Amino acid sequence: MTDPAWFPLPDAPLYPATRYACLADRIAGFMDTANDVLLIQGEAVVALEAAASSLGRPGLRAINVVTSLYGAWFGDWLRRAGATVTDVVASPGLPVRPDAVARAFRAAPGAGLLSFVHAESATGILNPISEIMEIARAAGALSVVDAVASFGGHPLHVDTLGIDVAVIGPQKALGGQAGVSAVSVSPRAWAAMNPPGSAPSILSLADQRESWLRTGRGALPGTPSALEFHALEAALARVAAEGMDALVARHSRAARAMRTGVLAMEQKLWVPAESASSLVTALALPESVYATAVAAHAPFPAAMIAPGVGPAAERLLRLNHTGPRAAAASVLVTLSAAAAALNASGIAADGGSALAAAGAVLAAG
Ligand SMILES: *Cc1c(COP(=O)(O)O)cnc(C)c1O
Repeated sequence: MTDPAWFPLPDAPLYPATRYACLADRIAGFMDTANDVLLIQGEAVVALEAAASSLGRPGLRAINVVTSLYGAWFGDWLRRAGATVTDVVASPGLPVRPDAVARAFRAAPGAGLLSFVHAESATGILNPISEIMEIARAAGALSVVDAVASFGGHPLHVDTLGIDVAVIGPQKALGGQAGVSAVSVSPRAWAAMNPPGSAPSILSLADQRESWLRTGRGALPGTPSALEFHALEAALARVAAEGMDALVARHSRAARAMRTGVLAMEQKLWVPAESASSLVTALALPESVYATAVAAHAPFPAAMIAPGVGPAAERLLRLNHTGPRAAAASVLVTLSAAAAALNASGIAADGGSALAAAGAVLAAG
């Protein structure tokens, strides 16, 4: 400790037991669902693993869409729980095609579960959620949606779409902390869920149902981290003040401005606008140029400009506009840094044109 006066978070007060249910209700409102919402202590992958562990069982046939490592993990967690899983792996870095999902159902009649990621910040793609959910509903399969990245960046109407289990976290588009996440569970999903085991499990949603939902939603079981719940409350208060629709619109505007800027400096987009997420813009690099090398030339901190993650990682340069970065100043700074990094890598990019074009989009609102 170099500065003894530096104690930004001294002795955080306990999080009041009466407020957990309010947090869950507020999240349910933002997810547009009447389903139960559980608060899961831990980053969102914990909630995803819990969903897979709670729904996977021997005898279950599942269709699992893979558009990033998160989807690959989900399939593996289902398998570990005993399910028979067909992975539908999209082309590297691209959204899944609905016909590929439909084909997987035809090849695995009686499949009882479909899982997929809504939007990816790893590659900047948006999976066609309405079409995929239509297929799940027609097949009568339970649906599990990883909406961790998309929540706040894209509309997510859980009940309208009929999503049985949706997992969200505050640490992406909401700009919050990563230590607590949430999962919505439909009555149908509860009915299909593995019952509590002989020992308590952090990965058992049925345990959480027993110990929290069925005990009147007071104090969370275990020892909740007060800091995380205060941070979650703050993030949700910010969303409420801005409005969920306005938050989604801010991401959409940032994405449009970024894409316009990329095109104005005569660079290519990795995917067309209708397949792109509003979270990051993926700029497609020429074959001979590696994203890691370009990103290394970025004059500003790395989080705004990065290579892809997972499939096609080196082919695309990710320009971040998630959460607090879905803002005019950040978009313009990122474009200017991207132009500098491209030029330093031997790719001519006119930063001035990019800023002018993006600025016009931002000014139009
Ligand atoms: C970020 C992310 C997660 C997991 O978030 P963690 O903070 O690493 O737990 C899961 N799924 C998707 C699609 C994400 O973008």
